[in-house]
Amino acid sequence: MPRRWIMHVDMDAFFASIEQREHPEWKGKPVIVGGLSGRGVVSTASYEARAFGVHSAMPMSRARTLCPAGIYVKPRFALYKSVSDQIHGIMLHYAAEIEPISLDEAFMDITGMGTQYPTLGAIGRAIKAEIREKTGLVASAGIAPNKFLAKMASDMDKPDGLTIIPYGREAAILAPLPIRRLWGVGEVTERKLLDAGFRTIGDIQRAAPGAVERAVGSQAALLRELAFGRDDRPVRAEREVKSIGDEETYETDLTDEAAIRRRIAIHSDVVAARLRKKHLTARTVSLKVRFASFRTVMRSVSFEEGTDLAEDIEEAALSLLAKIPRTEPVRLTGVTCSNLGEEMETPSLFPDRKAALRRAARAVDAIQEKFGKDAIRRGFYMEEELRRKPEE
Ligand SMILES: [Mg+2]
Repeated sequence: MPRRWIMHVDMDAFFASIEQREHPEWKGKPVIVGGLSGRGVVSTASYEARAFGVHSAMPMSRARTLCPAGIYVKPRFALYKSVSDQIHGIMLHYAAEIEPISLDEAFMDITGMGTQYPTLGAIGRAIKAEIREKTGLVASAGIAPNKFLAKMASDMDKPDGLTIIPYGREAAILAPLPIRRLWGVGEVTERKLLDAGFRTIGDIQRAAPGAVERAVGSQAALLRELAFGRDDRPVRAEREVKSIGDEETYETDLTDEAAIRRRIAIHSDVVAARLRKKHLTARTVSLKVRFASFRTVMRSVSFEEGTDLAEDIEEAALSLLAKIPRTEPVRLTGVTCSNLGEEMETPSLFPDRKAALRRAARAVDAIQEKFGKDAIRRGFYMEEELRRKPEE
């Protein structure tokens, strides 16, 4: 078996670089892409803008203070997506499978490619050159024994970087880096580790037995593996999800209008939560109704903009329900979302009400993630349970 080698390709200042390519007069100037309204945030800043201290996720108002002469641009996600697809196509010239992790980043397994290229570096240079030639954009690449290290390597020499972490050097390269560079170390875990005296990844490598466990519990085993640069996860080509749906066949056919509408509200809530979990939005909502006679009716409606909000999906599904004449009891209902796209809109692109709904939905997702589905639910679940109780 040849040694495994993983490459991580990461486009430099992707959105801003595309805008500079599309507007040659912006080359060499600070370009900031993001939401332009009052509460907007920066999606991407060109390297010229970064020199002013502007970075992604920063409030737009702060960026404008730091860089008043900057060129501020609203994102054009359809364009970025098409360039992203083009780059993935180029990567597929070099590997059978790639694993995109966002519009501008993807992993590929380049194990065994040494027969076609003299060195690992030559493979990296070839991909970077083809991307630059065909898209006019600059990529950084990292090559390493695994995904964790490859992603770290692509970040080490940006922009236009190509970094190789060889076998045997993993622990030494990681040792001086801060603990937050380990995957899975967010703010909370970082705080716990710092409080326990762990500042660098080397501190974790040298920890006394049990010390990391005392600081972070069951997460310790994984952190220690990563600290030594061990990560066995394979590159997995993302199978594209075409639709996300929820449906239910009832033990007793439904005749009550309120009950049918409540079921549709629940389907919508379930589907919306799944969309948000996969960071997707849907532009088409379909409603399926099967009657007692097994006659099945399906109706769809599409929107111009994608949504991941239960309220939007429910409203669409109820408008479809109104168009389906009901002459017999209902045996099954289902709501399916399709025409899926990546969730990329910054919150500021939504009108105020949507932004508020979105924040509320995210807050509920977070609470359910942490404390379970029953910790917080919308009212109709309760009504539904009350209705069902006597039947059970
Ligand atoms: Mg990038």
